[in-house]
Amino acid sequence: MIFGVVAETRRGERRVALVPSAVKTLIEKGHSVLIEEGAGIRSGFDDAAYSSAGARVASRSEVISAAESVLRVGVPMPEEISEMRKGQTFVGYVYPKRHPELLTSIASRGLNAFAMDAMPRSTRAQSMDVLSSQNNLAGYKAVIVGANALNKIFPLMMTAGGTVRPTRVLIYGAGVAGLQAIATARRLGAIVEVSDIRPETKEEVQSLGAKFISVEGLESVNVQGGYVAAVTDEVLAKQKEAVEKSLFSADLVITTALVAGGRAPRLITAEQVWKMKRGSVIVDLATEAGGNCELSQSDQTVEVNGVTIIGCDNLAATVPAHASELYAKNMVTFLNHAAKIEGFAFDMADEITSATLVVHNGEVRV
Ligand code: NAD
Repeated sequence: MIFGVVAETRRGERRVALVPSAVKTLIEKGHSVLIEEGAGIRSGFDDAAYSSAGARVASRSEVISAAESVLRVGVPMPEEISEMRKGQTFVGYVYPKRHPELLTSIASRGLNAFAMDAMPRSTRAQSMDVLSSQNNLAGYKAVIVGANALNKIFPLMMTAGGTVRPTRVLIYGAGVAGLQAIATARRLGAIVEVSDIRPETKEEVQSLGAKFISVEGLESVNVQGGYVAAVTDEVLAKQKEAVEKSLFSADLVITTALVAGGRAPRLITAEQVWKMKRGSVIVDLATEAGGNCELSQSDQTVEVNGVTIIGCDNLAATVPAHASELYAKNMVTFLNHAAKIEGFAFDMADEITSATLVVHNGEVRV
């Protein structure tokens, strides 16, 4: 097949869909790869590295007109959909439930689209799971961003001049990002507390040396295809009560909570922010899905009553070298699974194809 990689156009998006080693793997399988000039530069990969790996470096319009399939990272902008032609297949992030209008526009152009973010949460698909590979990096970076914004250090320090108490970190959500945030904060010497509504996360949290905040009466929650279904307001109220003491004594709060498809749960209210310690910091990783804190804003830092609230839509893009390497690995594993030399198999009996193919032959499938 002829795969085309275009440069990312969204503000702040520094990743690239394929790195040179991934290009090499596809070429060894018998495919061809075209890459837009400069597409990898912000991830640290120059055009010469892609040429050496066997790709042809070309202009954007050449890449799009020659490729059978266009590979990318970020959700495409409307004008990027109109650049493509009927029958072409787009592979990248789509977030179909958040962007129904995008699906309609892809379908009306007669394109096919695979959403890498719709990968099933199964053992078989784990090596193609971009949410895991990218959220893992985001969880790490959230701690670094928070530490940088804090007015104190993380570890306990006993010096001749006195003792410095360790920083207290509270993390909402112990999924992929949350677990990595716990591990990172612990490595830096913080005291870490964690809240998640999936009781099974308790053991994982404790094994990383953090304290799990249990919510009474919350024995099990509904999980749909690896994602927690939205829980009732009653459950959220109980959780709010159980976590409040930790919230008001925390120096750094990192929120990573997401539920299936829809809007991120509102876990920290404006009223609570006003009761937090002055100088404390909230890093909200859920702003792209609406935010876990009522006052956080998409990709912006705001200060309220001495509390700094940092909204992070896309932290993985701030570590683009590793993020692109992992994304490209997921992408190549997926392409090897879903495509043959002559084209995509579109085998609907295959769980991975069926879950990720969100538009096929002009028809929206979600
Ligand atoms: P996610 O990004 O959908 O959500 C992040 C976390 O937020 C989850 O742990 C969720 O329970 C939590 N959350 C939701 N509502 C909350 C609330 N009100 N308060 C606090 N926390 C709340 O989750 P994820 O990181 O993608 O992973 C979820 C699970 O799926 C993990 O156990 C992970 O190991 C598993 N997983 C499996 C695979 C696979 O097998 N291929 C791949 C990825 C993830």
